[in-house]
Amino acid sequence: MMKGGLAARGPRSLLRQIREVMAGGGPAQQRLDQTVSIIARSMVAEVCSIYLRRASGEMELFATEGLNPDAVHKTRLRSGEGLVGEVARSATPLNLPDAPTHPSFSYRPETGEDPFHSFLGVPLLRGGRTIGVLIVQNRAARVYDQDEVEDLETIAMVVAEMVASGELVGIAELKDVELAPHRPERLRGLKLADGLAMGRVVLHEAPVAPERLLADDIVAEEGRLKQALAAMRSHIDEMLEGQHGLAGPSYEVLETYRMFAEDRGWNRSLEDAVRSGLTSEAAVERVRNEHRARFAQARDPYLRERLHDLEDLANRLLRVLAGETPGQRELPDDMVLVARNLGPADLLEYPREKLRGLLLEEGSAASHAAIVARALQIPCVGRLSGLRDRLSQGDPVLVDGETAEAYLRPRADMVEAFTARMAVRAQRRAEFERLKDTPAVTHDGSRVTLLMNAGLAVDLENLDATGAEGIGLFRTEFQFMVSDELPRLNAQTALYEKVLDAAGGKPVTFRTLDLGGDKVLPYLETEREENPALGRRAVRMGLDRPALLRLQLRALLAAAHGRELRVMFPLVATVDEFRAAQELVEVECEWARRRGRPLPALLRVGAMIEAPSLLWHLDALLPLTDFVSVGTNDLIQYMFAADRTNPLVSDRYDPLSPPALRALAAIQKAAAETGTPVSVCGELAGRPLEAFVLVALGFTRLSMPPAGIGPVKRMILSCDREAARRGVTNLLASSSGSVRTEIESLVRKLNVAV
Ligand code: PEP
Ligand code: MG
Repeated sequence: MMKGGLAARGPRSLLRQIREVMAGGGPAQQRLDQTVSIIARSMVAEVCSIYLRRASGEMELFATEGLNPDAVHKTRLRSGEGLVGEVARSATPLNLPDAPTHPSFSYRPETGEDPFHSFLGVPLLRGGRTIGVLIVQNRAARVYDQDEVEDLETIAMVVAEMVASGELVGIAELKDVELAPHRPERLRGLKLADGLAMGRVVLHEAPVAPERLLADDIVAEEGRLKQALAAMRSHIDEMLEGQHGLAGPSYEVLETYRMFAEDRGWNRSLEDAVRSGLTSEAAVERVRNEHRARFAQARDPYLRERLHDLEDLANRLLRVLAGETPGQRELPDDMVLVARNLGPADLLEYPREKLRGLLLEEGSAASHAAIVARALQIPCVGRLSGLRDRLSQGDPVLVDGETAEAYLRPRADMVEAFTARMAVRAQRRAEFERLKDTPAVTHDGSRVTLLMNAGLAVDLENLDATGAEGIGLFRTEFQFMVSDELPRLNAQTALYEKVLDAAGGKPVTFRTLDLGGDKVLPYLETEREENPALGRRAVRMGLDRPALLRLQLRALLAAAHGRELRVMFPLVATVDEFRAAQELVEVECEWARRRGRPLPALLRVGAMIEAPSLLWHLDALLPLTDFVSVGTNDLIQYMFAADRTNPLVSDRYDPLSPPALRALAAIQKAAAETGTPVSVCGELAGRPLEAFVLVALGFTRLSMPPAGIGPVKRMILSCDREAARRGVTNLLASSSGSVRTEIESLVRKLNVAV
């Protein structure tokens, strides 16, 4: 076969013809048929076929020029079956001179494809997902040249957008082909931040509208792309020269951006796409789709990180093309941000007052986005697979951070029910607001100190808003997790100073870095561990890498100069570990003293009780500590040998069970006997029913997520400590695995508000 006429003319005129077909009206099937015949003619191919993916995963022949027309809607290939399946699976073109000899070839007599030897298949990609396959075939055995492959990819992009937008194939014909979102849907994911939100979708990675795919004037478009690239590069250079911190990407990431932005391959792919007739926006989208599909198969976390950088760069370029400077994007007042995942600074770039909720396709409880969302109290659900393909910009959505669900385009009755739930929450919030300055005292006069857990500067406003009496757990690793390079001494000191300033004399307990386990930092070299929750995490890492811990202690001492400093160590498992950690504090104090640096006015060093081993060594540990804090999240995970991050087992055991309650009672008793101040800082301290039990067991310091303070205070104000103690003590002897029901009856009987 001669080289395709397309390469000579460029796919531009072809794209134009396709556009005309699209605009021409008529039945969808007819338009699809016309499209394949136009493509076949332009590519000088004897066959052109379009397969689309059904919800079942099967690839169905939707239109063909050259194969037997009776096979249309009949020939279906299972996922991964045949050459079509191979293209879909790999999401890359397949170019074969003699298709029938390929090991994946699957013979379908009904199609009549026997005489055709050469085969070129390219994926129809949308949002990095293969939604179908576009194929050309010829009788003669030949390899299609690179230009032809690229042309077909450009055509595939236009076809994919048109199919997905419902312009080429009507909604009715799509049946269960899930491309054009329109129906209400409910997706279930992973709860990342509590709360309810209602609003309109803003896609973090906005797709290009199909009507903006084709350029009218190629030369002008080339100029436009060049200008945008230049503007973006100079913006990156400016950022590299200027300030960078939590509010912007780090130097290293910017360097990576610059590297990509100056990458000849990336630039050339964009220019080629524009030269073929696409708009600059469509060119960005096309190149991005290819990258996504390629990187999606990479398991290497480093490569996946790079994909994130590339995505970000593509978004930046699209924003420049749209004439937007960051922060200027038109955003609805009730936006729900939808993204695959978010990098350290992404969420903070959106205006807080407009941001109602966050939905992510990926994400985990320890991911940047989740940590920042919790700190900002933005309801967030993650791990919603297929999310972005099911939503369009502006779609109404409900974010249910209580049940970890997302309702896409909800029906009116759902909206109504949800609105009622939101109103109840708002009413309760207002009620808690009124209690903010009331001390938490039980009916019989027991005073309970309510503290909050925090980890980022944005948490600090909650101190006043909730009336918390201090910070009982400041998770210092959050600063490390939301940053994309190791925070230096100055950055650490600055944050701790800010926290102490904001606390204005209220006590703050800083917990030293609790890294390892599920909290891994991409920039910190660590060995791969088979079982990270039982691995070198928390204080173990601190003791093995004392430089890191000492640097942090130095920052803490410097920040506290002249004030009280409270430091505690996470996951202490032996008394010796606590001693070793204490010695490092001493070494750092000595270091500061020798240099004449001011020291804290008062230094208190404590241990977290999270490893069950300590339960039988409290007599040795407590006298060495200034205070202890019980990390029930970990303590209970280790007591029951059930991974707190694994949904299959995380809720299998009830903290309101005799073993857990006896352990807590033993800690409280030992602390009281030695006069050691003790608090509980796991999540359960923030749940009224569980907090009721803690108060009953005699705990008088509880530290919890800010949202727990109001409900727990209301519970305490309605509770008689002595009656609670009697009721709960009786249950400690129970032989059941859970005494939750009994505790529920008890609070009902005692009229406690939980
Ligand atoms: C705990 O384990 O209960 C705790 C408070 O620490 P973290 O949740 O940060 O592990
Ligand atoms: Mg812990």
